[in-house]
Amino acid sequence: MPIIIDSNCTYCGACQEVCPRGAIIAGDTQFQIDNDLCDECQGSPKCIPVCPEKCITKISMERLADLES
Ligand code: SF4
Ligand code: SF4
Repeated sequence: MPIIIDSNCTYCGACQEVCPRGAIIAGDTQFQIDNDLCDECQGSPKCIPVCPEKCITKISMERLADLES
């Protein structure tokens, strides 16, 4: 399932530091995940537990399509 960062991101950068794939990118107002680079850490995402705001979540492909439309 894709992983997204929601608007509660406070730009702390903790997730980016632990990502082994360079898939977390600093956007203008929050960090973002490049799902073409993210491999979900092969089933155990390192970014999700380090986020102090709990704003990194797995979502369904259908939900991602809704958000991008
Ligand atoms: S799940 Fe792993 S590869 Fe994907 S963004 Fe998080 S730390 Fe990076
Ligand atoms: S750890 Fe959470 S709050 Fe910090 S930059 Fe990443 S998504 Fe944003």
